Amino acid sequence: MQMNYAEWVCPECKTKNREACNMWMYGSPIRECKACRSEYLDRRWREVAIDGFDPRSRNAKFYAKGAAFLLSLAIVCGVLLQTSLVHGNNSTKLTLACVLCSLFGVVSGFIALRIKLGFADKDNAKYMAESKARLGNSTYVEKLKKYGYNIR
Ligand SMILES: [Zn+2]
Repeated sequence: MQMNYAEWVCPECKTKNREACNMWMYGSPIRECKACRSEYLDRRWREVAIDGFDPRSRNAKFYAKGAAFLLSLAIVCGVLLQTSLVHGNNSTKLTLACVLCSLFGVVSGFIALRIKLGFADKDNAKYMAESKARLGNSTYVEKLKKYGYNIR
């Protein structure tokens, strides 16, 4: 799922880079600046063959609980909103809270469902294959070692 963006400022030329990534930032931690092509380490990225998967990425319960919590919060906000509307107050904050809770609640529910149905495992298998392919390149492995990664 390419639903997140990673942003960083290049340490060499100070250009702001923006890249699509999945929610848990699986990918090479060696990033290249789009402007000046300099390389550096960004530990936020997970090289899954070394770092492993983010434990949350397989935890359907975590997201199901999150979804339940957010949706009940949305209902509470909705009820409060109704009450204030009855009294003639139109609360922008409550409307916003209600909309955001519903939105994040639905997204969490969707993620939980994906994990339950095994789509997340399929994604993970793809990321693992990509990661292993990168680690098959000895130049790349040397670079990672230089950056302090412990490989075998
Ligand atoms: Zn740069």
